[in-house]
Amino acid sequence: MSIRRLLIANRGEIALRIHRAAHEMGIETVAVHSTADAEAMHVRLADHAVCIGPPAARDSYLNVAAIISAAEITQADAIHPGYGFLSENAKFAEIVEAHDITWIGPKPEHIRTMGDKVEAKRTAGALGLPLVPGSDGAVSEIGEARRIAAEIGYPVIIKAASGGGGRGMKVCTGPDEFETLIQQAGSEAKAAFGDATVYIEKYLGNPRHIEFQIFGDGKGKAIHLGERDCSLQRRHQKVLEEAPSPVISNNDRNHMGGIVAKAMADMGYRGAGTIEFLWEDGKFYFIEMNTRLQVEHPVTEAITGVDLVREQIRIADGLPLSVTQDDIEFKGHAIECRINAEDPWNFTPSPGAVTNYHAAGGMHVRVDSGLYAGYKIPPYYDSMIAKLIVYGRTREGCIMRLKRALEEMVIEGPKTSIPLHQALLKEPDFLSGDYTIKWLEEWLANRIG
Ligand code: ADP
Repeated sequence: MSIRRLLIANRGEIALRIHRAAHEMGIETVAVHSTADAEAMHVRLADHAVCIGPPAARDSYLNVAAIISAAEITQADAIHPGYGFLSENAKFAEIVEAHDITWIGPKPEHIRTMGDKVEAKRTAGALGLPLVPGSDGAVSEIGEARRIAAEIGYPVIIKAASGGGGRGMKVCTGPDEFETLIQQAGSEAKAAFGDATVYIEKYLGNPRHIEFQIFGDGKGKAIHLGERDCSLQRRHQKVLEEAPSPVISNNDRNHMGGIVAKAMADMGYRGAGTIEFLWEDGKFYFIEMNTRLQVEHPVTEAITGVDLVREQIRIADGLPLSVTQDDIEFKGHAIECRINAEDPWNFTPSPGAVTNYHAAGGMHVRVDSGLYAGYKIPPYYDSMIAKLIVYGRTREGCIMRLKRALEEMVIEGPKTSIPLHQALLKEPDFLSGDYTIKWLEEWLANRIG
């Protein structure tokens, strides 16, 4: 291992997660933080800490010059970007590499390709992944767009090539509203992302969100670590994730996993990645690829026993994958609850002082969080404050243990989404695994309405 000191360009639980993997590998860590995060747990635990700017993310966690300077001052020889912030910024990856610092992430050209949704879809199609039927690339001329929409069949979804985070999408139910919607989509995309490019896809009525974790060594070898089911979403934000998916058979996992691993091997992909699919009536449809670690990665770790962050660091260091496809065994079941500092029913953020904190424990219970009693949750960032990940030999056993663990969690001060998870775990549809990406919002609407 040639990496000796790793700078973590992130905050919160993921900064802690990366710190832990690094220390377990004998690597020193450098925390960077905004003035609002001076008292954060990742700053306390890291070997070195550098303040990189004021609270607003654009001045600190997105401040490339300040982060590179921090790496140079502390003589860090590697940077891990975590998720969000600069993790999918190809330019940042190039700047890191240009400074002779090891970038713990995919090759910049792959980040760039997959960050453009039209390019990503074209690449995925060329690599043999099944696509949602739609336009072959961007659409610009209205007559042609109309013809394509009619050919695909309504409803269709108009998507911005540069969209992300669930934004820049419009569902169109019929030809009458098509022209208005496509024009709106283009001008909104231009305003929000600086790029008016849009494309058209068949709108799937009631799919599940199923994603595959993959790993490549950058030299033509790649493996998959099975799927995660992330269908429980609100406003396209994941709330609870599980692995394996209750609806994917061993055969389907091995088959689709083999296809995605081969695609990544052919591409020469390096590091961790996630291939996202919509799944309906037993068929997979590629929607996008995330070229980074995901929030929900621990459920995959729980059922495979592979430390994904350790693997990322090893690959960035030029080492081979530590496991082969044949070594990967899927054992048991894991569920992650994202715990947010917010009102569990109306989702208003609830930052502020944590007066009391006690994390759940016991066999097969993992809490990834930077919380401690006396910590003040700053109002400037994402509201996720903890992840509770529970493993069981069976899905039923996992759910029983998860209920027990949620009862034990104490977070006093802010409101949290714990009551939402507790209510969810009582729902017959959840217990039977019978839910799609629409389910949670409909359930919430019925509870409130
Ligand atoms: P983003 O990058 O903004 O997350 P995605 O392409 O991953 O965009 O889509 C986000 C979500 O939008 C999906 O998880 C799904 O809920 C919905 N969605 C996207 N494409 C379709 C489609 N063709 N049909 C139905 N729902 C879709």
